[in-house]
Amino acid sequence: MNLIDTTAASAAGARAPVQIARAETRRSLAGLDRAGLAAALAEIGLPERERKMRVAQLWHWIYLRGALSFDEMTNVGKGLRETLSAAFTLDRPEVVVEQVSNDGTRKWLLRLPPDLKGDKPHDVEMVYIPESDRGTLCVSSQVGCTLNCSFCHTGTQRLVRNLSAAEIVAQVMVARDRLGDYPGRERAVGPGLPTEGDRLVTNIVFMGMGEPLYAYDSVAKAIEVLADGEGLGIGKRRITVSTSGVVPEIERLGREVGPMLAISLHAVRDELRDVLVPINKKYPLKDLLDACRTYPPASNAKRITFEYVMLKGVNDSPADAKALVKLLAGIPAKINLIPFNPWPGTQYECSDWETIEQFSDIVFRAGYSSPVRTPRGRDILAACGQLKSETEKLSARERLALRAMAASAE
Ligand code: SAH
Ligand code: SF4
Repeated sequence: MNLIDTTAASAAGARAPVQIARAETRRSLAGLDRAGLAAALAEIGLPERERKMRVAQLWHWIYLRGALSFDEMTNVGKGLRETLSAAFTLDRPEVVVEQVSNDGTRKWLLRLPPDLKGDKPHDVEMVYIPESDRGTLCVSSQVGCTLNCSFCHTGTQRLVRNLSAAEIVAQVMVARDRLGDYPGRERAVGPGLPTEGDRLVTNIVFMGMGEPLYAYDSVAKAIEVLADGEGLGIGKRRITVSTSGVVPEIERLGREVGPMLAISLHAVRDELRDVLVPINKKYPLKDLLDACRTYPPASNAKRITFEYVMLKGVNDSPADAKALVKLLAGIPAKINLIPFNPWPGTQYECSDWETIEQFSDIVFRAGYSSPVRTPRGRDILAACGQLKSETEKLSARERLALRAMAASAE
């Protein structure tokens, strides 16, 4: 938001200076791919012969250095920097809420400016999960979700829209801004942050709000920007797309983009999966597993992750565990048992710890190592879809207070 200073006008009327807020009309270049940057340069009349070199400069500053303003771009002439600032910004989505768990997990609620269709702003969330040797960022691909998985809170929120590729990339940029994860920036300190390596955000998982394969074009384009070795440099082996099972897009994703794949399996029989993950009625287990068997990038070194949420008395019996192992035979697979994260109003409960251990033992004996994903950030409701709903319940005043808190944390 720009602030127009009306001091001169108010001096004439002998009143205190006031500031009138004016909506930002300049477009942000943060998150764009090379073609998007080239188009922006064409818009300000930069001759075509210069564009490639200027795109490379912008790319370096935006993605390698995390520049927040054009002024930082010291190898770009002052005149061009001024023209760029007059036409564009490097703004990221606004952080509306930031929560830091005592285990180091961080969760942000981001406000996306309206898209070009004159929409209103929308909020999406992302979660950062640090471990000693890596930092994984869980990003959103849609506002809400059209699929209604019965145990998932996002499934209760209607779909509003797909995110653009730039909005997906911008999520990663916000996380790196907040963590000081750029050369020369002050790195975040606190419990649980990675101690190995020089980067804090090393891995990306599309496990936030939305079904990434229903936002295919944005997700595919965003992955190319994230993986670019001259920029953010998060290789495709460190990017995982999680899907509820949009079978036709699985093969395409493997062939055209090639990230790691995770499947939200959650049930080993069609009757139960039809209820838990209703897209199963369209693409049943057999079709889904066939798509996994032929997923181009999969190999023993690049296994497909099968996510399995542990629901008490629903899918957690020893017979289910044995059927799971049998179902995955022949597929280069990893299994993640996810303790169910309950939300207000859900009909499900998380399986008892003993039951999870028993299930995990069966899976372990079949050759899958440490399959239980420890719940992280429980104290900040780190399951996706929950921060947004919590915030929606707040009054306008409470929202403002949270925004102020978020701002003062900068
Ligand atoms: N739409 C995609 C990605 C987002 S969901 C998908 O379904 O794969 C990311 C993962 O979180 C999925 O495996 C999903 O099934 C799981 N999940 C959703 N709600 C959950 C909850 N309340 N507790 C535990 N896991 C949940
Ligand atoms: Fe959508 Fe994934 Fe939630 Fe299912 S589990 S409703 S696909 S976000």
